[in-house]
Amino acid sequence: MDTEEFRRLGHRVVDWIADYRATTSSRPVMSRVEPGSIRAALPASPPERGEPFEDVLGDLERVVVPGLSHWQHPRFFGYFPSNGELASVLGDFLSTGLGVLGLSWQSSPALTEVEEVATDWMRQMLGLSPAWSGVIQDTASSSTLVALVCARERATDYAMVRGGLQGAAPELVIYTSPQAHSSVEKAALLAGFGRGQVRQVPVDATFAMRPDALAAAVRADRAAGRGPCAVVGTCGSTATTAFDPLGALAEVAREHGMWLHVDAAMAGSAMILPECRPLWDGIEGADSLVLNPHKWLGVAFDCSLYYVRDAQHLVRVMSTNPSYLQTAADGRVRNYRDWGIPLGRRFRSLKLWALIREQGVAALQARLRRDLDNARWLAERVAAEPGWRLLNAPVRLQTLCVRHEPPGLDGDALDRHTLGWVERVNASGFSYLTPAQLEGRWMARISIGATATERAHVAALWQRLREEVRN
Ligand SMILES: *Cc1c(COP(=O)(O)O)cnc(C)c1O
Repeated sequence: MDTEEFRRLGHRVVDWIADYRATTSSRPVMSRVEPGSIRAALPASPPERGEPFEDVLGDLERVVVPGLSHWQHPRFFGYFPSNGELASVLGDFLSTGLGVLGLSWQSSPALTEVEEVATDWMRQMLGLSPAWSGVIQDTASSSTLVALVCARERATDYAMVRGGLQGAAPELVIYTSPQAHSSVEKAALLAGFGRGQVRQVPVDATFAMRPDALAAAVRADRAAGRGPCAVVGTCGSTATTAFDPLGALAEVAREHGMWLHVDAAMAGSAMILPECRPLWDGIEGADSLVLNPHKWLGVAFDCSLYYVRDAQHLVRVMSTNPSYLQTAADGRVRNYRDWGIPLGRRFRSLKLWALIREQGVAALQARLRRDLDNARWLAERVAAEPGWRLLNAPVRLQTLCVRHEPPGLDGDALDRHTLGWVERVNASGFSYLTPAQLEGRWMARISIGATATERAHVAALWQRLREEVRN
């Protein structure tokens, strides 16, 4: 494809995306395809000779789109909002079009320095002190893995340069809560801890980790000769948006020399609103922090921000520095390959930078406040409606956990009722909710905050849910 053909087709692709975004609301939110049907509609082997690009676009329309659940749909209330604001889509295009890689500062100086600027803008938007330095990772899962590797190395005084965990004594322990995201356990396992070294500290009635229970668990491990290594606190848990008390966790961590990592993947975006910041009181006492601007904030997937207070430690742990990557500038610049796992890095900051510049902080704040208002509006209605229950009152941000509890239904029968109406709503294509378990029972999560979602869409959902449970 030469640049003239690219120009012609590129305009068509942009038109296609613009049409898609303009018509998303008329599509069924959740894909209705059967497993294997997309694969079956495509040739099993690659074409020997090149095909017209038009054919690719044709198959996109014919085969791919019916196999999509539409995250940008105004009645998408599943999982979490993953907003790809159009300005950030263009930033992502540019990154791909430029085709540059960050291996070292030298390999594309602007790639590094725009990332430094954009992560520092975000730091300021979040109300964090200048003690934090940021880097963009692909996902929160990778960031948390990096955090636990850094915690492990600090606890062992760099065992990696000796026998690694094979030679390390004593046994090291991680503390988190049963409400923590599954990526925490995964990161612990990948960082060399076993399930037996991951403690699930009990939670209180708001599903937040109990600092007294954390202190007790640490003391018990200490007494048994084990080494407390790290606490992973969650700021906005996946199921119910619970907030672990970071200040109290930081105190326990400090007392026992533990690393404190904060998973704010979803709720971190809310901290651009000063009124939300009390929810992460104590954040300055953490060692590392992850949040995903590719969720609610609106950066097209993927863009996860990882902040640390001790960048030198991070680099010492993550750097291997072979000769072919060394450059004369090394002492004066950031080499972001030493701030995470991959060597080659995309120019991800372009889409974050583009979003912040095109929207401005005030518009981003206004959109998040709109969503918080919509969540409060729905929460009031659910709480006031006979037969319905709001399980995470007061609703802290934009996710509601609800159940319809008709008189006489409980236990497994109630679970069947819940899964039944959620499934009917999802299968109808009207909306998309995520069923999830809370304390062993099913409920429906309603996550509000797609860019296109206005009050009318939330009201339409509420109307639909009440009709659905009558059937
Ligand atoms: C979404 C989420 C994650 C996982 O994020 P990835 O970027 O997909 O790895 C982890 N923790 C919390 C609290 C989340 O909301």
